[in-house]
Amino acid sequence: MYLHPEFEKLTRSEIEVLQMERLKKTIDHCMNTEFYRRRFAESGITPGDIRTLADLGKIPFTTKQDLRDSYPFKMSAVPLSRVVRLHSSSGTTGTPTVILHTQRDLDEWANAVARCLYMVGLRPGDIFQNSSGYGMFTGGLGFQYGAERLGMLTVPAAAGNTKRQIKFITDFGTTALHAIPSYAGRLYEVMEEMGIDPRRDTHLHTLIIGAEPHSTHLHTLIIGAEPHSEEQRRRIEQMLGVKAYNSFGMSEMCGPGVAFECREQNGLHIWEDYYIVEIVDPVTLEPVPEGEVGELVLTTINREAMPLLRYRTRDLTRILPGECPCGRHHLRLDRMKGRSDDMMILKGVNIFPIQVETVLMQFPELGNDYLITLTNEEANDLMTVEVELNAFSDDYHRLQSLTKEITRQLKDEILITPVVRLVSKGSLPKQEGKAVRVRDLRKTLI
Ligand code: ADP
Ligand code: ZN
Repeated sequence: MYLHPEFEKLTRSEIEVLQMERLKKTIDHCMNTEFYRRRFAESGITPGDIRTLADLGKIPFTTKQDLRDSYPFKMSAVPLSRVVRLHSSSGTTGTPTVILHTQRDLDEWANAVARCLYMVGLRPGDIFQNSSGYGMFTGGLGFQYGAERLGMLTVPAAAGNTKRQIKFITDFGTTALHAIPSYAGRLYEVMEEMGIDPRRDTHLHTLIIGAEPHSTHLHTLIIGAEPHSEEQRRRIEQMLGVKAYNSFGMSEMCGPGVAFECREQNGLHIWEDYYIVEIVDPVTLEPVPEGEVGELVLTTINREAMPLLRYRTRDLTRILPGECPCGRHHLRLDRMKGRSDDMMILKGVNIFPIQVETVLMQFPELGNDYLITLTNEEANDLMTVEVELNAFSDDYHRLQSLTKEITRQLKDEILITPVVRLVSKGSLPKQEGKAVRVRDLRKTLI
């Protein structure tokens, strides 16, 4: 059940002892960087002031801007001659940042990813296909090394070329696939066009009549890298006939392997032998009351080249209460609500794209793709939601009543009335990487 029982089975108090030990080492190590030496001096603290985990709050936050200002190598805590790899954030929200790794960092990262994959039941003998972009995007090499570390046959299919992706799935007998959620839907559509039914239980078939080219051996999907709703996950599971597990990570924290669902699918265990977790109010920066939503702040405690103290991730989530039946005591994060930058403010109401998605995915008539466009006329903000239909229909009355019902349910959820437009399947723009769900075309009004 556990790949690393010595870490996965730690009790809460054992986790805290280990964290304190690793935090002390990390802070001492941070003093090798000019950045943290200055930070500590400016705030009048010394490493010796951090005696308990609660003292962590005395240390100033590290932000994405700090990483940009240190571009490319100023945050290295080791001589550059010991750095063996760099990754860069995909720059969804601005100038790229650079993250450095020693060989030990890469080893520990692979261990973390292998632990996650083992946790959801993958084993040597499974065939793991990775449809992430390789290169700077950490979902490529991150899963590659982790899956190899676990001992799976690992296929670096990389992003795009969906037909070839599907050919690999059927020819190699791929059992587990890593894909971003928006791509999983696309895969299914193309499989359908190719006459392949991924839901077919092929195991028996293969035993009896040999390999079956019109079905797959897929049983597990790893989905992550972008926000998605529980409804979207269930759809992916049903479409592809798999179990789909949520995977959370970011370049600044190595990449994938930060937090992952176990087989209970009830939140993402965050590995507390690697990270110390805080959830703060993004405005006051004070800790939120237990169990409330706020910004995830992470401190790395198992990293050499580029340790980060109290890094503001901008991702919004909360810590789930209670014990997990899997026996791991590592905290569980709720499904990400989005980044603080994803929040739309319309007529003074705060709205996250994921709220819109949750409503849309409840309608079986609707496909997986949607686009929210914000415009303004005079002082009036307007939201238009375009969503693809699942199948062609020219039944005007049915479409009209469907539009009405979607609008009504969206209004209940987001408190404003959007304009809903049903569009034909495949007509919304598709991205190679992470899906773009919002276009803000609002003009600044003088
Ligand atoms: P970029 O910041 O340029 O998008 P990254 O690849 O480092 O580059 O993306 C990390 C971000 O992706 C996270 O901070 C988070 O916002 C998002 N993300 C990653 N995994 C998930 C997930 N499982 N659910 C929701 N959002 C996720
Ligand atoms: Zn669990």
